Amino acid sequence: MIFNIQPHERAIFSIISQTAAELNVPAYVVGGYVRDRLLARPSKDMDIVCVGDGIVLAKSVADKLRPIPRVVVYKRFGTAMLKHHDLEIEFVGARKESYRHDSRKPEVEAGSLEDDQNRRDFTINALAVSLNDGNFGMIVDPFNGLQHLEEKLIKTPLEPDKTFSDDPLRMMRAIRFATQLNFKIDDETLISIGKERERINIISKERITTELNKIILSSKPSVGFKLLQTTGLLKLVFPELAALKGVEIKNGVGHKDNFFHTLKVLDNICQTTDDLWLRWAALLHDIAKPPTKRFHAELGWTFHGHDALGATMVPRIFTHLRLPMDHKMKYVQKIVALHMRPINLTKGEITDSGIRRLLFEAGEEVDDLMLLCEADITSRNEDKIQRYYDNMKFIRKRLEEVEEKDRLRNWQPPITGEMIMETFGIPPSRPVGEIKNAIREAILEGEIANEYHAAHQLMLEKGSALGLEAKTLASK
Ligand code: ATP
Ligand code: MG
Repeated sequence: MIFNIQPHERAIFSIISQTAAELNVPAYVVGGYVRDRLLARPSKDMDIVCVGDGIVLAKSVADKLRPIPRVVVYKRFGTAMLKHHDLEIEFVGARKESYRHDSRKPEVEAGSLEDDQNRRDFTINALAVSLNDGNFGMIVDPFNGLQHLEEKLIKTPLEPDKTFSDDPLRMMRAIRFATQLNFKIDDETLISIGKERERINIISKERITTELNKIILSSKPSVGFKLLQTTGLLKLVFPELAALKGVEIKNGVGHKDNFFHTLKVLDNICQTTDDLWLRWAALLHDIAKPPTKRFHAELGWTFHGHDALGATMVPRIFTHLRLPMDHKMKYVQKIVALHMRPINLTKGEITDSGIRRLLFEAGEEVDDLMLLCEADITSRNEDKIQRYYDNMKFIRKRLEEVEEKDRLRNWQPPITGEMIMETFGIPPSRPVGEIKNAIREAILEGEIANEYHAAHQLMLEKGSALGLEAKTLASK
């Protein structure tokens, strides 16, 4: 079959082709680029394999391009990369690989195109397009990759057990591709992942997490997490999530399977946000349900405090998975901590002060929190779903009203600790905190307005009640 070369590819393909002919090194476009183009998916990184020296080819191609791009050489890997328009093109010599048991780093030697295709992970990733005179544009497909693209199938080119044992990261990649592309993993390949799963332990956490993030960023991440679960990989790479699986029954009362519930929430939130961290928050919102699970004869199953405990688990999970321990972790932690608050509000009378407190605590994150709460509605009962949605809609309306009135998002107290110290001429001490708290509580309870004068007046009253005397008029 001939690859349908598009106008924007023609120039670059022919320059590479001409250069390869001059150097007498047959060259091919291979791997992900070919796969994605055939699937009509956007692809920005292109891999060129040549039977010869990839670095020399890259430099010679660069000399022919305008403007002449910088060539970044990775000598150790024998690869070279250049950027042309919005394409990142990587050049490498065709290679043959052999593996030792204790490492995913193979022994590498120069090889033929066929050797190079043999070392690739899946048949759909082993397709090559010739850039050579005689068969320019022909697709070289030794493992029926084209047919598997049609059939939407992930299958290893060679024996799966060996493929996965050689480089166990491929197990994560198989599941990630199945999720991203909505493909099925071939039966034999899938069975082999189950068999070889323990080998994942030789793979770095960073690489595993890169694949998890790609699963989470796909349009239906549940596909990937279910595959991770059924193959037994989940327990190894993300035990806290695996622990959510299962239903316990006592006195004939069961609870919902928190694993499937969590995945439904994650799929739901993918409809309303592309943000990786809000998706992580959805994945982790009920993470503390197993350790907080109790059975009460009257109440049935409860998970009291799973929100607070979940928030304390977030930093540990982020550390294990080598996720960033910065404001992104704090953000996820905050959403997990607060995820029950809007629902709890709807259980009683919805007061202004309840809404104010929610706004105050959630701050900038209040909209994201509401998206999670809406995604968290997963009942099978349509009436229930409608009722919960209506509740959330009402909370949103009340949030808007109170926000407009009180401007509590990113709330800064109108009276700061410094002002209190200055007013009463006191050093940092307990009364400062007491006065600050009293002002905050009064504002949140709606006893005074969220503004300077009212807060100042209250400060003077509280100070005097504590036996303090105002020395100066605090400046605003
Ligand atoms: P994506 O760019 O979406 O991550 P990709 O398949 O293009 O997917 P890359 O990491 O860019 O992945 O790798 C390019 C190609 O290199 C792949 O298509 C595949 O042929 C080969 N490859 C990458 N990783 C492996 C691996 N672990 N084992 C075997 N072949 C691999
Ligand atoms: Mg790629």
